[in-house]
Amino acid sequence: MTEKDLAQRTSLRFNDLWSYDSAPESSDNVQLMDRYDLFIDGTFQPPENGKYFKSINPATEEVLSEVADAGNADVDKAVKAARKAYNGTWSRIPAKERGKYIYRISRMIQERAREFAILESMDSGKPIRESRDIDIPQVVAHFFYYAGWADKLDYAFPGVKPKPVGVAGQIIPWNFPLLMAAWKIAPALATGNTVVIKSAESTPLSLYKLAELLRDAELPPGVVNIISGAGNTGAEIVQHPDIDKIAFTGSTEVGKLIQKSVAGTDKKYTLELGGKAANIVFEDAPVDQAVEGIVNGIFFNQGHVCCAGSRLLVHEAISEELVRKLKMRMETLIVGDPLDKNTDIGAINSRPQLEKIQRYLAESVEEGQEIYQTKCTLPEKGYWCCPTLVDNVSQSHRVVQEEVFGPVLTIQTFRTPAEAVSLANNTPYGLSGGIWTDKGSKIFKVGKDIRAGVIWSNTFNKFDPTSPFGGYKESGVGREGGLHGLLPYLELSK
Ligand code: NDP
Repeated sequence: MTEKDLAQRTSLRFNDLWSYDSAPESSDNVQLMDRYDLFIDGTFQPPENGKYFKSINPATEEVLSEVADAGNADVDKAVKAARKAYNGTWSRIPAKERGKYIYRISRMIQERAREFAILESMDSGKPIRESRDIDIPQVVAHFFYYAGWADKLDYAFPGVKPKPVGVAGQIIPWNFPLLMAAWKIAPALATGNTVVIKSAESTPLSLYKLAELLRDAELPPGVVNIISGAGNTGAEIVQHPDIDKIAFTGSTEVGKLIQKSVAGTDKKYTLELGGKAANIVFEDAPVDQAVEGIVNGIFFNQGHVCCAGSRLLVHEAISEELVRKLKMRMETLIVGDPLDKNTDIGAINSRPQLEKIQRYLAESVEEGQEIYQTKCTLPEKGYWCCPTLVDNVSQSHRVVQEEVFGPVLTIQTFRTPAEAVSLANNTPYGLSGGIWTDKGSKIFKVGKDIRAGVIWSNTFNKFDPTSPFGGYKESGVGREGGLHGLLPYLELSK
């Protein structure tokens, strides 16, 4: 039987025969204000320049709210409030009390989890299934985990005296807004630092909801200051002379600017930047399980994931079978309304991001690569991209080397483990990777040879607050998460 016959026999027709009734999550319990001011020193304050910008729902293109555009005077105000809180209360109160506040924040987010999940999906476009089952539970887990460290720092770093660094300036991206905020705020607070954090321009709303929650939790004013603005607001934070530590997640391009900007100062910094992970499937891998892992690796959060498995490297002996099964599985993915509980792939976060993805695909077509997109029907309004495979690529193609940050997977084959490792390592990035095989020895050997901060074996995109996360090469500097994630927020002295 030829591969084509087999494909016809075994392919299941899903989309035109089986349709799910929609199961939309109601947004009734999300109370949004028409306008959000900056959260500085425990109160909402209008920006000095009087400027605001709109936050748009990428699935409907409707304006959800408008938020303040912080200028340099506002950044200065926020840093001053953070410094005052650091000197006045936060670095002085007993560590156990700091821990109690963080536990309280964690519990209160858990109580309002549904509201946070719905808002996150509305503002970012991610499916409610993911914001409900992954983002918000992970946010809670991060606060909970770091609350536990607050009064145990002496045990974490025996023989030295851990001291907070002071005021942390934190800049986060749009792909996991509240989760990235939790990754940054929780360890900063646990170690006795105060915070000025800026949300990404396209996803400011869940952070302002968090600001309301911090106020309700009676966190001392100025301990966490939340502001919104564009790239120049981020640059103001980086350049502010009274910031002691920068924590940044975003593009490698901006990460490099930040590194230049802090060069020659005594500011500490961590940079969590881009990635172009190889998901390597060996000939002895459990193929069906690998297909699930590949789908999760690249289509989770529309592929807007720094550690996404965006390059499939498959052993040539099983490539036909694997790609056939992958295409069948992709046809079952439901693309559409992020608030529908059946949705697998939501909206692309913004128009500029959609245009960026489309530019990569247009270039792939021009270069003669083979594009496969599922037959999904897309809503008329909003920003959408069907799950996409790009085959017939070579290592030098831009779609293989650069971060597309969308639901786009390139496919390459290999013959030997050494060739797989060489292809996996041949990008400027080194954030993550995946290995699929039933041989433990191969996992250890290949895992050791791939230069990346996180390697998953026979799974992908699994996160845990106890586990450090970060990159090699152009994927960044420093680690977030786990005990390692405390270090950037501490001075260790004898
Ligand atoms: P950016 O790196 O531009 O943005 C990340 C954050 O930094 C945002 O809050 C942004 O503000 C802010 N920022 C922008 N310019 C500066 C600056 N000069 N100094 C300080 N802060 C700044 O990423 P984009 O949102 O523009 O996305 C572009 C690409 O970056 C994506 O296509 C993707 O490839 C990659 N990316 C990687 C992420 C990761 O997790 N590794 C996350 C997000 C993006 P503002 O939102 O206002 O621009």
